[in-house]
Amino acid sequence: MPQYIANPTSRKQIRDFTNMLRRLTGLYDEPYFPIVEFLELAMPKIFTSFEYEIVSTSEMPNEYGVTYPEKNKICIREDVYDRAIAGVERDRFTIAHEIGHFILHKPGNIALARSDLHQEIPAYRQPEWQANTFAGELLAPPQIISGLNKNEISSKCGVSLQVSEIQLKNINK
Ligand SMILES: [Zn+2]
Repeated sequence: MPQYIANPTSRKQIRDFTNMLRRLTGLYDEPYFPIVEFLELAMPKIFTSFEYEIVSTSEMPNEYGVTYPEKNKICIREDVYDRAIAGVERDRFTIAHEIGHFILHKPGNIALARSDLHQEIPAYRQPEWQANTFAGELLAPPQIISGLNKNEISSKCGVSLQVSEIQLKNINK
């Protein structure tokens, strides 16, 4: 699998961006981020000509979601979409993750890593790390999780215990 390298982006930069999106939509202090409504209603308003498509499982058997930044498009598999509406943590995270790719990985922000780069790509330049960090920060930002334990974060924000732990660990970054 080719390795991709993205423009360096720190957790702090990603957090500034996700909180800007929360402010823009009046959701800065909202514990349970309505990720499906955000995809359907807010994204097309914020990003001109953005579109999303719900794709059948037979069309996309191996992926939960795919983002085509150059086509202004996010595809979400229908079972993921249905479970996200039902509040399943992992599927809510998947949609937030794809939105992260869409916003952070426009053409020009991302490239194939040079094959002669033998060093490991640092996390802050890895597209998957960036999209996961985006999702964690969008769904469970410091202003919401401050003072809560991981179980409270999980139930209030609709994220997994694992995501709650990562967000708690990085709350002061
Ligand atoms: Zn991804």
